[in-house]
This record gives sequence, structure tokens and C-alpha cells, in this order.
Amino acid sequence: MHNETLHPENADASPGGLVVPMASAQAHAPGTLVDKFGRHVTYIRLSVTDRCDFRCTYCMSEDMSFLPRQDVMSLEECLRVASAFAKLGVNKLRITGGEPLVRKDIVWLLERLAALPGIDNLVITTNGSQLDRFAVPLKTAGVKRINISLDTLKADRFKEITRVGELAKVLRGIEAATAAGFRRTKLNTVMMRGTNDDEFVDLLRFAVARQLDISFIEEMPLGDIHGRNSTYISSEETLERLGRHFTLRASDENSGGPARYWRVDGSETRVGFISPHSHNFCDTCNRVRITARGELYPCLGHNDALHLLPLMRAGCSDDELRQAIVSSMGIKPYGHDFTQQMDAPQVVRFMSMTGG
Ligand code: SAM
Ligand code: SF4
Repeated sequence: MHNETLHPENADASPGGLVVPMASAQAHAPGTLVDKFGRHVTYIRLSVTDRCDFRCTYCMSEDMSFLPRQDVMSLEECLRVASAFAKLGVNKLRITGGEPLVRKDIVWLLERLAALPGIDNLVITTNGSQLDRFAVPLKTAGVKRINISLDTLKADRFKEITRVGELAKVLRGIEAATAAGFRRTKLNTVMMRGTNDDEFVDLLRFAVARQLDISFIEEMPLGDIHGRNSTYISSEETLERLGRHFTLRASDENSGGPARYWRVDGSETRVGFISPHSHNFCDTCNRVRITARGELYPCLGHNDALHLLPLMRAGCSDDELRQAIVSSMGIKPYGHDFTQQMDAPQVVRFMSMTGG
């Protein structure tokens, strides 16, 4: 932690430079995942379904079609993929989707993932709609932390953004998570000018009052959704607005991920900013993503993928599966190149497909 109090005007507004780190594969243990830029992959985000009970406007189109069931990994296949990664040194696993809690028998999978040797940090990202009944089973299964999406505290606005969701249910889910003993639960808020930017202060107050963390996310151009240009709002602008109401201290805590954190003075709450546009975070990237149909995407912002499901269904051995995963390190690009021209989708997949 820095000791200085950082006011918004002192915040680093410069885009992160694309400084390619020196390759240092030799520094890492053999049998672990190191890409050609020397970055060590220790974290996977595994999407267990592309389906969802919401249709958030920034994430899905209204008339989404979903994958046929046979194209989606079975729970056993999800477990096998995760186990292969764990044997390659991955210790953190985030379960996501789509909405992971709509996947049938998800608790069965979570119990087994939590028990995998080497996995010491099993976490989940959810829209919270089912959390009031799932909070206790998730805790018992061994899930360590929960991220819950929450873009607004207004019920009518919530319905507009999610097209179908009910705010009250999600609020009950947040309470249930705390009551089940989850700590450092994090809210994820996608920033949209003209939609929810008048609520950032209220959302932070809500988080502070409940000892939750909160991350503000710049909208990413994933999937063909028009009108994003006009809604883009930068992390710097939000930070500046929050700084008028809270004293924020820059923190050098990080999860090896894209968020930069600030502490709210006088509280336990951390405020994160995920800023793919205004602050490139690729140089410390430690993760890859697996879609519900078993595609390994080394980078959220690129279309290159390795298809693990056909391999598994063709009867590959565990060794062959691990070899394939190791080979994917060769296609991990240095970074994404999202621009602020948000109307043209720079990546054709929706976030619900890749797993947020
Ligand atoms: N359904 C769960 C949820 O909403 O938390 C998990 C999957 S969702 C795809 C994961 C995260 O991605 C959510 O926090 C969501 O707000 C975020 N997200 C979806 N589409 C996005 C986009 N185009 N830009 C930025 N974040 C996005
Ligand atoms: Fe569903 Fe999450 Fe996408 Fe919203 S952001 S539509 S809740 S997958």
C-alpha cells in the first residue's frame, strides 16, 4: 500500500505502454505454463454454460441463440480440463458463464474442483439471481469468493439493463452471500454513460455499508452490439467523480489481474477499475479462458483458440491433453488492442460466450 492519499488529478491517466517483458521461461518450474513473453499462467476462467437467465444489453443481443447441449462440455469434461490445468501449475480457477448458477448440478462440479490438488482459490462470478438459494451450498462446496454483477440500485433501470432481471432477488442474493460467511465479495459494475453513471457514488456507498469491494468496468467491444461509442466512460472519469465524495487511497494490491485498486478511507472497501481501453493491462496477464464448448482462448481480445473438446471426445490421454494446453502458450498474443471505436465489434464473440 502507498501511504500517500491520491487524489483523482494525480491518478495515472496514461495508457499502459506495450513494453514487452523479457522472456524468462527458465525462471519458472518445469511443467508449468509459461508463454513466449515469459508470463506465467496460473489462473483460468472456465465458462460452464453460455446460457443465462438475464439478457444484459451490453453482453447479449435480445434474440440470443444458445449452443446445442451436445456442443457444451459435460461437467465431467469441465472437471477433466480443470484437472489438467491444475497439474500444469494453475492454482486459481474462476467459474463463470453465461450464468454459472443456471447450470444443472453446478454444485457437484464445484465440490470436485475445490478438491483438485493444487487449486487453492476457487471463485465464481454470478449475476446473483440464484444466490439466495445457492450461497450456502457454494460455501460448503469450497468456493472462496464471489463476484456479483450489479450495475444499478434502481429496480426499473435494472430491468432495462438486464431486460428480464429482478433487482430485489439480486439484493437478497448479496445478503445471502454475506450471511453464508463469504467475505470480500466483489460487485462488478459496467460503466455506461447515460445509463448508470449517475449511480456510481450510490453504488460505492452501498458497497461501503456492506463491507463489499466493487470494480468498475469499462465496457468492452465484444459481440455485435451497436451504440457502444456513446456510452463509453473511462475509469479516470469515474475515479474523478468518486473522489469528490470519498477519500481514495491508491493501493498496490493486485490479483495478478487487470484491476487497479483504491481503498476507501475509513472502510474495508476496495474500489477496482478494469480499464482495457484507458489502461492496457496485458503485460502482467496470468490467465487464459475456456469457453463452455471447450475452446481455450489465450486472450479475451483475440479470436485465436485451441479446441480441447474434439480432442477429449476423440479419446486423447491426459498427457496429450496437457501437451495441447502447453502448446497453446505459443498462440498467446502479447495483448489485446481494443480501441475506443466501440461500435465495430473487435471480437466477434459475446462475453457470455468467452466467459467474463
Ligand atoms: N453471468 C455472470 C455475471 O453477469 O456476473 C457471469 C458472466 S458475465 C459475462 C461476467 C462479467 O462480464 C459481468 O460482470 C458482466 O458485467 C461483464 N460483461 C459482460 N459483457 C461485457 C462487456 N461487453 N464489457 C465489459 N464487461 C462485460
Ligand atoms: Fe448474463 Fe452475465 Fe451476460 Fe448479464 S453479463 S447477460 S448476467 S452472462
